[in-house]
Amino acid sequence: MQDKILELKKLEEEIKSCTKCSLWKTKKNYVVGEGNPDAKLMFIGEAPGREEDIQGRPFVGSAGKLLTELIENVIGLKREDVYIANVLKCRPPNNRDPRPEEIKACTPYLIRQIDLINPSFIVCLGRYSAKFIFDLFNLKFTNITKVKGKIFEVIRSDGSVLQIMATYHPAAVLYRPILKDEYIKDFEKIAEALERKKKTKTLFDFT
Ligand code: URA
Repeated sequence: MQDKILELKKLEEEIKSCTKCSLWKTKKNYVVGEGNPDAKLMFIGEAPGREEDIQGRPFVGSAGKLLTELIENVIGLKREDVYIANVLKCRPPNNRDPRPEEIKACTPYLIRQIDLINPSFIVCLGRYSAKFIFDLFNLKFTNITKVKGKIFEVIRSDGSVLQIMATYHPAAVLYRPILKDEYIKDFEKIAEALERKKKTKTLFDFT
């Protein structure tokens, strides 16, 4: 745990001096990510928005409020129990979509965050996150509506199972409230999968 915290700190320092794409010039703050370094559950969004850029923290604006509400009230975890990061660590001007060269430059940081935190469940929020994570783990990504709400499993080289689910970005649900019931169902599926994992672990954990 101590080593992991040191590695995450080192990574944070690296991110905070990054000039690999041009977004560092227009951002107010780098938004590295935050949460429990030992989180089993990791959420990955797209890029910081206005409020995140001001505060230097992920998902603290209106989309973040919805995400936090669902983590706490549907999954039953505290926000501090999970880890929250983004594909891009700097805000694109006027919240425009991330560009391919920005994703290419920035995602080695996200890959290192995933390696260090080593979650057992990743939730991709929105299509940019889903596309990147599905490609990374060699899962077929067609479009977000096709894959959303389904749990995919990847076996890591150490034999552990990583579960991956894509769902809508919370900002999309705020924009189209009709999606909220479906969104809550996806979060219920995450809660059930985590509960199943916990039970299986107890069943086979003789230590
Ligand atoms: N949208 C994102 O994708 N990430 C944030 O941190 C905030 C809004």
